[in-house]
Parts: sequence; structure tokens; C-alpha cells
Amino acid sequence: MPKLSVDRIAVRDKTVLVRVDFNVPLAEGAVADDTRIRAALPTIRHLMAQGARQVLMSHLGRPKGKADPKLSLRPAADCLARLLGSPVAFSPAVIGEQAQAAVAALRPGGVLLLENLRFHPEEEKNDPAFAKALAALGDAYVSDAFGTVHRAHASTEGVAHYFQQAACGFLIARELEFLGKALEAPESPYVAILGGAKVGDKIAVIRSLLQRADTLLIGGGMAYTFLKAQGHGVGTSLLDEPHLELAGELLAEAKGLGKTLLLPQDHLVAAALDKAARAEPSGLEIPRERMGLDIGPATVAAYKVQIARARMVVWNGPMGVFEFPAFREGTFAVAHAMADCGGVTIVGGGDSVAAVNQAGVADRISHISTGGGASLEFLEGRTLPGIAALTEA
Ligand code: AMP
Repeated sequence: MPKLSVDRIAVRDKTVLVRVDFNVPLAEGAVADDTRIRAALPTIRHLMAQGARQVLMSHLGRPKGKADPKLSLRPAADCLARLLGSPVAFSPAVIGEQAQAAVAALRPGGVLLLENLRFHPEEEKNDPAFAKALAALGDAYVSDAFGTVHRAHASTEGVAHYFQQAACGFLIARELEFLGKALEAPESPYVAILGGAKVGDKIAVIRSLLQRADTLLIGGGMAYTFLKAQGHGVGTSLLDEPHLELAGELLAEAKGLGKTLLLPQDHLVAAALDKAARAEPSGLEIPRERMGLDIGPATVAAYKVQIARARMVVWNGPMGVFEFPAFREGTFAVAHAMADCGGVTIVGGGDSVAAVNQAGVADRISHISTGGGASLEFLEGRTLPGIAALTEA
């Protein structure tokens, strides 16, 4: 369902309450990586150019409902001011008279950032009174924090109900365009690639992708649970015992649906999960005292063939322990194959996004999602509360 976009609302001389995702890493009191702040710039710049007064709000880390000076958003205000080349006001108060006074001091085109929303327990409880107090700070609401739309919190869901117009910013509009296409109108062949550590986290998305994608490529730590379910030797590899039976069911489901589900046919293994470990090649059956830490060259070749012919590719989760140089080949190969494939390519999840950046191919991926959890839930076909609450276009 298309949502009202920020460029379709009249904001001149209005105060716009904007939920951004400034959940950035901090080091020594400064922003250590400003990627998320940069991602919000198009929406912020648009509202500035329109002469709106902006009240930005975000969470940062997990202060568990208590003020924690180490998790103050003040460094994010400084960082944003540098990126914009103009001042950004900061309000230590999130709601109430003090916050309202800070909003009243804004000039047209001015920007104010509120303190960390999660200093208040009411934020994560989606407390209606807290949401209403936040809503009192603006005339219109814009959400551009895709990374948090899968959570129904006061600033992402509750607050939207107090506005006639609750619009999405440019970042969310782009996520909805690409992920919406993968969910509702994927081009065929559609290849989904899943990796990472835990099967349990990705079962629902595998189920959903089995319906929508033509081919599923599985790698990473979760592959061994599937291989074990098929009766193969997995040595001391990561195993998600409680989901073993379910992995078998999913394999049967794929077969029943006539889908291609590929598992690794060879591996790179080591005696232990160790940064200095030497990568040893292994065939399909992993020796008893070895663990699989990356997909092997035959698997890489097979997965590349599938990716090369795809018109749409969605990827979440690394193919191996790519943090260790000896075991990053499979993950980097997938990143390069996607960059070269010529179809629509979507990457989600912090590790895969990091891998695409490290492999130097980020600019050749159609869409890099800013929300790992949110993008997975979206691809499952679940309703995301922070999207559902926005006004329809
Ligand atoms: P996830 O958060 O589920 O996407 O998992 C990402 C993590 O899975 C990364 O830190 C990888 O190092 C890890 N991982 C990938 N492959 C393996 C493997 N074969 N064995 C253990 N961990 C793995």
C-alpha cells in the first residue's frame, strides 16, 4: 500500500515532528560512524528548503528507560550540524514545557533534536499519554526511521495516530519501493540468498520466500542444520538442534513447491572458531573434528550460476565467518556476483551490508536496506506497525 510521502505534504511555516534513526555507534563522546545520520539528510534538507520547523527524535542504544549520559544524542546533533553546515538545536527534555519552549524558539527552516527517547520507559511501552505529549510538539509527522518500523513504540506508531497527516520520508519511501517489489511483484528468476548464524531467526522468512522466490541459496552457520537434517556429517559446525526437525520440513516444503533450494556441497573448515585458523577444504561430509566456517569453491561456483541468471536477488546473512580473512571468500563472492548480475539486487542485515561495503561493490547494488530486522519482517509479509500507522497516499 503506497504511503503519503513527505514531498506531498504542505509544511511551510509548520512544525514537523520527524522520527529518524540516529542509533549510531559512539566513541569518546562523538559519533563513530555517521552512515545513519547521512541517510536521513535528504528528508531533513527537503524540510529545511520548504521552510518547515523540524523537531527530530530518535532512540540510541538500550538505556532501559533511564537517563544515561553515555547514551545522550547530543553528539548526533553536533554531527548533523556539521553535515548540514548549519546549527542544530538540542533539547535535553523530550516532552513537556521545556521541550515545547525549545520548539517555540525554532525559526522557519530550523532544526531541533530531542534527547534519546528511550530515557523514558513509556517510549518502548507505546504509552498513549507519552505519544500524545510527543505529538503536541508538531503539526505534522514524518517517519524516516526504517530500522525501527517493525516495533510499535510511542515515537514510531502511537504518535502517528494524533496527526491528520503522517507521512514517510525519502528513506522509507525507497525501502517500500524496493522491498515492496520483492514482496509483491518480483521479477523472475528471483533468487533469495540466506545466511548467518541462526536458523531460528530466519524460519519465517524462509517460509515466505519459498512461496515467492524461484531459488533459495543457503549458506553460513544455518546451512549445517539443514545438512544435518539431510543426514550429512557436519562435524562440530554450528547446529541449531531445536530447529533440526523444522529444517527438514522446510526442505520437504521446497520440494513440494517445486522450488530449487541449494545447500553447500563443499566447505572450508577448521579445528576451531579462531581468527588465526587455517582454512582447510572439505567435501560435502565434514570430518568429525572440524567445523564449517565458509562455503567451498564448488558451492561458490554453483551459487554464482544462479545469481548470474537472476533478474531479482535478495540477500540477508553472510555465507561464512567473513570477519576472519580466511573465511570471507564465499561471502565476498556472493557480493560480487550480485553486483555483476544486472538484475534488481537488494541487501539487508548489518553483516551482509558490511560485507558489500568491504567487497567494494556497494555502489553496484540496487538497494541496501537500512533495517536488518525490519527488512526481514517486511519480506515475511508481516505488517510493520510503524508503516501501517502512516497515512495512505
Ligand atoms: P546473523 O546475525 O544470524 O545474520 O549471523 C551473522 C553471523 O554469522 C556473523 O557474525 C558470522 O560470522 C556468523 N557465521 C556465518 N557463518 C558461520 C559459520 N559457518 N559458523 C559460525 N558462524 C557463522
